[in-house]
Amino acid sequence: MPHPYDVIVIGLGGMGSAACWQLARRGLRVLGIERFDIGHAMGSSHGLNRIIRLAYFEHPAYVPLLKRAYELWREAETLTAEQLLFITGSIDAGPAGSRVVEGSLATCREHGLAHELLDAAETHRRFPGYCLPAGNLAVFQPDGGFVASERAILAHLSLAVQAGAVIHGREKVLAVEPGNGRVMVVTEAGRYEAGRVVVAAGGWISDLVPALKGKAVAERQVLGWFLPKKPELFAMERFPVSNAVSDAGHFYQFPIWGIPGFKIGLYHHLNQTGDAETLSRVPTPEDEAVLRAGMAAMFPEANGPALRLSACLFTNTEDEHFVLDTAPGAPEIIVASPCSGHGFKFASVIGEILADFATGKPSPFDLSLFKMGRL
Ligand SMILES: Cc1cc2nc3c(=O)[nH]c(=O)nc-3n(C[C@H](O)[C@H](O)[C@H](O)COP(=O)(O)OP(=O)(O)OC[C@H]3O[C@@H](n4cnc5c(N)ncnc54)[C@H](O)[C@@H]3O)c2cc1C
Repeated sequence: MPHPYDVIVIGLGGMGSAACWQLARRGLRVLGIERFDIGHAMGSSHGLNRIIRLAYFEHPAYVPLLKRAYELWREAETLTAEQLLFITGSIDAGPAGSRVVEGSLATCREHGLAHELLDAAETHRRFPGYCLPAGNLAVFQPDGGFVASERAILAHLSLAVQAGAVIHGREKVLAVEPGNGRVMVVTEAGRYEAGRVVVAAGGWISDLVPALKGKAVAERQVLGWFLPKKPELFAMERFPVSNAVSDAGHFYQFPIWGIPGFKIGLYHHLNQTGDAETLSRVPTPEDEAVLRAGMAAMFPEANGPALRLSACLFTNTEDEHFVLDTAPGAPEIIVASPCSGHGFKFASVIGEILADFATGKPSPFDLSLFKMGRL
C-alpha cells in the first residue's frame, strides 16, 4: 500500500534532520528515513561539534547563508531549550599570502565583518595555546565558534517530530524511483510514495543519485582529542576555534568541550578516498601520529595523552563547494550534499533551502555556486 507523504527525506544526519524540521513546520506530511541509528558514528556529523565561522576563506558568497544559519541555530536553541551554538571567536592562520589568511581577510572586508589581523607573537600573547610559526598571520573574527553537531541533529529531529514528522531509524533506502510527478522510495522494509524526495545521504549520496557517481567522493578523516599538558590554555574562553596552516599541513582545532581534551583534525587527513561503505572507521597509530605532528608544530602544550580518536567521512566535490539542486531530469528529487568537509555549520539554513525547493518557494539566496551541472 503506498503511503502518501508530501516529502520523504533520506538520511537523517546534519542536512536531513534540519530538512525534516523545516518541512514539518510548514505543515507538510514528512517521512524521514535513516539507515543507521538516529545519531550514529558512521557518517559525517559525529564527534561532538563542528566549527562555525563567518570569516569564510572558502568564498565570500557563503556569508549570507551563514548569517541565516546563525539565526536558525539560535531559533532551534530557543525552541528546544538546549545550547547548540557556542561562541569562542575564530582564527584563520597561515603564512602571509596563503589561501586561508587571504580568503578570510577578503571575506571580512567584503562583508564588513569585525576582524583583527595578528602576527604569530600577538596571537600567542592573546591566546597562549597558539604557538604559530614565526612569520605566520592570524585573522581573528569574534563571531566564530562551534555547533554541537550530535546534539543539533537530535534537536532538529525532536522539533520535526513535534511538528508532525514521522521518522524511521535503522531502515536503509534501496532505491528512489521518480515518475508521473510522484516518487517511490523503496527501503528494506517497504515502499513509500511522496510528491518530493530530499536525498541527504552524505557519503552514500551517489548510491541514490547516479549523476553524482565519481563526482561526490567519500574521504576518510580522523578526529583526535588529547589531554593537554596545560588544559587551562585550551579552555573555551581562551582558545578560539581555528583553521591553521603550517608546514605540517592544514589543521582545524577546538577548545576543550564535552570530552576533557583539545580536539584537532587534519584537513584531508591521509587523502584516503573511496566507498563510504568500506572506508575504515578504525583509527590507527598512523592517524594519531599525523594529528600529533600538527600539535607539535602549532599547539605544543596540547600534545598530551590521547583520549579519543574517531573516524568520519567527508564527501567531496572537485571544487569543494556543495550541491544544493534538483536531480537532472527529475525535479521531484532534491539533492542536498555533498558538503566537502565544511557543511555542518550550514545545516540549519540548508534545511530551510531544501524546504524552499520542496515547496517551490524561490530561495532568497544565490545558489548558483551549488548547481549540480557545474561538476
Ligand atoms: C572529521 C570532520 C570534521 C568536520 N569539520 C567540520 C567543521 O568544523 N565545520 C563544518 O561546518 N563542517 C565540518 N565537517 C563537515 C560536516 O560535518 C559535513 O558537511 C556534514 O556533517 C554533512 O552532513 P550530511 O547530512 O550531508 O551527512 P551525514 O550527517 O553523514 O548524514 C547522511 C545520512 O544519510 C544516511 N544514509 C546514507 N545512505 C542512506 C540510505 N541508503 N538510506 C537511509 N539513510 C542513508 C547516513 O547513514 C547518514 O546518517 C566535518 C566533517 C568531518 C568528517
